[in-house]
Amino acid sequence: MFQRVLVANRGEIALRIIRCLREMEIESVLIYSEADKESLPVKFATIPICIGPASAKESYLNQDLILDIAIKTGCEAIHPGYGFLSENSEFAAKCEEKGIHFIGPSSEIIRKMGDKMEARKLMIANNVPVVPGSREVCESAQVAKELADKIGYPVLLKAVAGGGGRGMRRVYKPEDIEDAFKEASLEAKTAFGNGDMYLEKLILNPHHIEFQILADKEGNTIYLGERDCSIQRRNQKMIEESPSKLLSKELRKEMGETAVAAAKAAGYFSAGTIEFVVDQEGNYYFIEMNTRIQVEHPVTEMVTGVDLVREQIKIAAGMKLSLTQDDVQLKGHAIECRINAENPQNNFMPSPGKIDFLHFPGGNGVRVESAIYDGYEVSPFYDSMIAKVIVHGENRLEAIRKMRCALEEMIVGGISTNRNFQYIILFHPEFIKGKYDTGFIEQHLKDLLEWSGQDE
Ligand code: ADP
Ligand code: ADP
Ligand code: MG
Repeated sequence: MFQRVLVANRGEIALRIIRCLREMEIESVLIYSEADKESLPVKFATIPICIGPASAKESYLNQDLILDIAIKTGCEAIHPGYGFLSENSEFAAKCEEKGIHFIGPSSEIIRKMGDKMEARKLMIANNVPVVPGSREVCESAQVAKELADKIGYPVLLKAVAGGGGRGMRRVYKPEDIEDAFKEASLEAKTAFGNGDMYLEKLILNPHHIEFQILADKEGNTIYLGERDCSIQRRNQKMIEESPSKLLSKELRKEMGETAVAAAKAAGYFSAGTIEFVVDQEGNYYFIEMNTRIQVEHPVTEMVTGVDLVREQIKIAAGMKLSLTQDDVQLKGHAIECRINAENPQNNFMPSPGKIDFLHFPGGNGVRVESAIYDGYEVSPFYDSMIAKVIVHGENRLEAIRKMRCALEEMIVGGISTNRNFQYIILFHPEFIKGKYDTGFIEQHLKDLLEWSGQDE
């Protein structure tokens, strides 16, 4: 096993990884930016090293400097967390060249699956159902229009390099496609350095259901149930739960096995996620694979009892999976709410600033993943997610009740958060019935905002 691992991330996920390393008696080297010098991961890492200014480009994305530090401090591996360098095949390749283990799959797999059009092609070739749409990148708006005319509107234009809900546009009529194409392509070019676009039929109000995969380097591949991530705003997840109310036992097995087949087609190893959209009739379609640990991984940990970060580290060190498919038993129900420093009443505008009072919920089956503390200053430079509240109950209704209590108890003073907004969702009859899809927030936004009021 590794003796020392570099953590190339910040916030709650950096802390999550450091905790896991401590449990495994592995030392951690944490790189951090000047903006994060007062952060909790810095206090808990074995060796924290300031790497540069706040701008991610000069710190968390500074590939050569990070590698340099890993070598100088004698790290055998790098854990990239999510976001930042986690899906950067160039960085993974540099690690491979220097003989440092990248805790994730190979650079080749990241490259292949990170290009969403390539991934689509691979799935088509392996009989994994994909959303009807492009077989190649759309070279121009005209090509996209011709295809859209053929498959019928509405369609979804997507960036091959997209992520975090960016670089996609819904198009409802032919006269809008040209502008939408140009806008989305420019957005993708700016955000990801690649403006290539492809097209899918827009599935109306689908569920977003994803399967957690674990695979070792010998090719042993298992699935650990699903997460329903349909509560989204602007294609970004807000609440995730497992299991999904939509899936029967039979459909879970079928989709799980399809996810395993998809991972195997990619020659995948490490932890990964196969994302599907599922329509109202239960037809499911692959949309993408995330080749990293996911924000919402704790939901799966709560229902399976498996520590996914630990498994990820062990796989990177060349160890075999410690469990088989038959060992995976889903127990009870878990829900996660992402708490963001933002003001829902003001168009969800980020609200950085100093936290002047903090109380986290606790109790049986309540887990909080966060790196904030009383007196902490939420930085404007990075993601606005400040905490994840996860609960585990015997069944879905118990989990919902538990989450309501947890959010009632939670106090974050000094800044606005989306806590009340999340809280109100937990009382919505359609949410309680499990009859929600990815259109839920948009459809009920006015009510949710009115009922949740101003979050102090
Ligand atoms: P998850 O699929 O784990 O729920 P999200 O889509 O919410 O992940 O993204 C997790 C984090 O990673 C967010 O901070 C998001 O901004 C960032 N992210 C996702 N994809 C990319 C990408 N391709 N490039 C840069 N950052 C990304
Ligand atoms: P990202 O890389 O930004 O996470 P995804 O391809 O995973 O992009 O899509 C993000 C979200 O957009 C999905 O969770 C789903 O809600 C929605 N979405 C993606 N593809 C489709 C589609 N073809 N039809 C309807 N909704 C879709
Ligand atoms: Mg996605």
